[in-house]
Amino acid sequence: MSRARKTVAVQVGDVTIGGDAPIVVQSMTNTDTADVGATVRQVRQLAAAGSEIVRITVNSNAAARSVGEIVRRLRGEGNDVPVVGDFHYNGHLLLSRHPDCARSLSKFRINPGNVGRGRYRDQNFRRLIQLALEYDKPVRIGVNWGSLDQDLLSRLMEVNAARAEPKSAEEVLEEAIVASALESAELAREYGLPKNRIILSAKVSSAPELIRIYRVLGRSSDYPLHLGLTEAGMGSRGIVASSAALGVLLHDGIGETIRVSLTPLPGASRTEEVRVAQQILQSLNLRSFAPQVSACPGCGRTTSSFFQELAERIERHLRLRMVDWKQLYPGVEDLKVAVMGCIVNGPGESKHADIGISLPGSGEEPKAPVYVDGRQFTTLRGDGISDRFIRILEDYVTDRYGASRGFSRSASLGPT
Ligand code: SF4
Repeated sequence: MSRARKTVAVQVGDVTIGGDAPIVVQSMTNTDTADVGATVRQVRQLAAAGSEIVRITVNSNAAARSVGEIVRRLRGEGNDVPVVGDFHYNGHLLLSRHPDCARSLSKFRINPGNVGRGRYRDQNFRRLIQLALEYDKPVRIGVNWGSLDQDLLSRLMEVNAARAEPKSAEEVLEEAIVASALESAELAREYGLPKNRIILSAKVSSAPELIRIYRVLGRSSDYPLHLGLTEAGMGSRGIVASSAALGVLLHDGIGETIRVSLTPLPGASRTEEVRVAQQILQSLNLRSFAPQVSACPGCGRTTSSFFQELAERIERHLRLRMVDWKQLYPGVEDLKVAVMGCIVNGPGESKHADIGISLPGSGEEPKAPVYVDGRQFTTLRGDGISDRFIRILEDYVTDRYGASRGFSRSASLGPT
């Protein structure tokens, strides 16, 4: 889909960020990068879940020494997901000392607030840009409000104090975050890095602040922007806060790649952040990753939990079948299924979906009309409604998405 905000395109391994490319989903590991086996396993899981770029922390000599082996193992198993190195404080030293690490990474993430103070800041930043040039890598200039360049903030605070009508401390902080990203990008260009090798981010943990900051960044430059609410938190709080902030910006056409920073519950998979990022994009019709199930919330008109169980079963069935369907049936990720609880909205929502079922509500005749492509296809009654609906769904997918591959089962797709 064509985007309102035009940006340069940046190549990160085989993945394009910006230009006309679709919005890219990325994630970050939480393993110790020095532990090659654990990091390879987690990158593999994140990539399998749909992360198109995976970032790993590179914080020590041991971590930097492991990077080459991590990337080689991934490539050895046919996994070409770009691996990005996240550097703070000592990136200039690690990348200088470990050429194999520098060569293996697809991008360097640099935090301009964490490259050094005073004259060391410029010196270390320049060295990082030289290394990016030497190894032909793009960089993300990733500002984070928790590690904002304090010299820059002090400078802007002084300028503000001299104003006739000084701005609030929060406004100056937001100005400093934007300035840190834009001034660092200009410095990188002065040091020779081409524009099409720079991505910007400016993360904060408050949704309204993030929206304000990225709107200014979006207006002020044509660098691709990496969106993310930092420290979004755990569970539904993190999901809702990220969705609210990213949803507004993406809907405005701002953001070329996203990461949802969720803190996993103990023992939970790291891949949840990938699924949430995909769902944000799919909910906004920006990309399609998996068939969507519309299910009503249920109310006093539903007499049992049957329709909730059916909706859950369909979700699970689609998730499991997508492993094969992705390969067999291109376009199946656009499929829309409806599972509804009664006659009030059931037929309407079901007709709107590609395939839908309207279960009987309280006091209704015990029958479940099934709709295919907007028309009533059959009516299910009695036992085994779930199994029969799943059979109709399977036939529909084979018939609609498999036709070009000779899998048509139109003959079997008759009313049951
Ligand atoms: S479709 Fe029927 S059961 Fe579902 S929420 Fe609406 S009124 Fe309630």
